[in-house]
Amino acid sequence: MEKINVFWFKRDLRLQDNPTLNAALRQPEPLLLLYVFEPSLFEDAHYDKRHWQFVAESLVDLNTELRKYNTKILQVTSEVKPCFERLQQSFCINTVFSTEETGLKITYDRDLELFSFFKNAGITWREFQNNGVVRGLSSRQGWSDKWYRYMTARIEILDFKNTDVLSYDFVQNFQEQCSSFSGVDTQSNHKFQKGGREEALKWKASFFNERLQFYNQYISKPNLSRYGCSRLSPYIAWGNLSIREVYQEVRNLKPDSPYKRQLNAFASRLRWQSHFIQKFEMEPRMEFEPVNKGFLQLSQPARPDYVAAWKQAKTGYPLVDASLRCVVETGYINFRMRAMVTSFLTHHLFQNFTTGSSWLAKQFLDFEPGIHYGQFQMQAGFTGTNTVRVYNPTKNAHEHDTDATFITKYVPELSSLPSNLAIEPWKVTPLESQLYDFQYGKDYPERIVDIQETRKVAVTKLYAQRKSTLAQSERRRILDRHTITRETNE
Ligand SMILES: Cc1cc2nc3c(=O)[nH]c(=O)nc-3n(C[C@H](O)[C@H](O)[C@H](O)COP(=O)(O)OP(=O)(O)OC[C@H]3O[C@@H](n4cnc5c(N)ncnc54)[C@H](O)[C@@H]3O)c2cc1C
Repeated sequence: MEKINVFWFKRDLRLQDNPTLNAALRQPEPLLLLYVFEPSLFEDAHYDKRHWQFVAESLVDLNTELRKYNTKILQVTSEVKPCFERLQQSFCINTVFSTEETGLKITYDRDLELFSFFKNAGITWREFQNNGVVRGLSSRQGWSDKWYRYMTARIEILDFKNTDVLSYDFVQNFQEQCSSFSGVDTQSNHKFQKGGREEALKWKASFFNERLQFYNQYISKPNLSRYGCSRLSPYIAWGNLSIREVYQEVRNLKPDSPYKRQLNAFASRLRWQSHFIQKFEMEPRMEFEPVNKGFLQLSQPARPDYVAAWKQAKTGYPLVDASLRCVVETGYINFRMRAMVTSFLTHHLFQNFTTGSSWLAKQFLDFEPGIHYGQFQMQAGFTGTNTVRVYNPTKNAHEHDTDATFITKYVPELSSLPSNLAIEPWKVTPLESQLYDFQYGKDYPERIVDIQETRKVAVTKLYAQRKSTLAQSERRRILDRHTITRETNE
């Protein structure tokens, strides 16, 4: 049987600046490129068809590039272990190369299972660092320096020279022979950003060349942020772009750019990306329970009716409902709206964060477990280290969607109203109701809670919980473990 190595694509769907791939290409053994669509992830509550569509689009793009090198990616729909078992029937696998994944419990368990399978089968598994995230850390001592070194290291150009990869025809035939091996069927939905390197580069170029100037001004606006923010998140999350190449472009642009403030603000977000993923790498139980264990004792009585209203975008608060409908429809909302809908669920409705975390992940095309859970917990007030920030959706609408453009686009039942009433439809008088042909409570639901009241209750309960001995000792533990000790000068 032919001896081969396998490069297993995970969330690193690119050829450029992919050190794992280059390391695999430097080996003497012929290389098979592989992507595995895992049915268990199709079923997982965090994932949606939109994610696999994005991946499939990325693979089409990669295969177009790979045509130049007379190879293609074997795409398999199977759990990963049976996939490798099947490959072993045809090949003698020497080494598997993949990029480290800071994932959910389901992918962690899959990797543990594979680890022992590879060990028993005599297969070496080599994993390489992803993003600025470091495996096996117990504290952040010196993390900042490591991050900086990673980000400023040389960009790895794809190195296909002298390499023996399994040929295009061979992979094609093999794919056809194995009838159970097939990619997913996807139907393009133009409302989602399209996956793939080519699209990623277009979004990156348009951001740096045209949209950057609006970054700071538009970042909080639900509508304008769609233009003024980079929109690179799905490309970074699925690895069409490496965080390092984006970071280095910022550094190269900065000396001559008239938009230094914008570039600085953007660069700090790139750092948060790694920071949050690193935190999740070190505290993966955040998927299931508060990072600060003191909040395990917080009582949040379940109200399935509240959670259902939130998921159906029928809370009666126009900016909340518009944001939720928008993310379901397009896969994207900006940071402030993400924080606001999370705060609405966990503060105003006072529901356990797990009632909405996976559901929201399913909607985000850019779902990245580390950022998602870190942010969700921070917004819910479960770190015990940050100020509890309870968002007022009405105030936010007046400040950031002044003319109710965003609200009326996603909640069209409010579009007959002037903007101030579309933001606060409960203020419609009987006369206005006739004038605008709008009935509050019938055409649009009444508010499910009174946010003036719920705000007070949430803040009181969260701060009381924070005072507990356990929450205080956890607070110190979190600060010790996750505070970045030294900032590198840039
Ligand atoms: C509850 C909640 C859940 C979130 N879930 C995700 C998620 O699953 N995936 C995800 O990529 N982002 C998540 N974010 C962070 C942030 O909202 C998005 O990264 C951002 O809105 C993506 O748009 P952009 O690429 O235009 O951002 P830009 O402002 O242009 O930022 C550039 C990049 O920096 C990173 N970034 C930006 N903001 C943050 C942040 N606050 N924390 C960490 N990294 C950041 C992202 O990689 C982003 O692509 C979440 C935020 C909240 C409040």
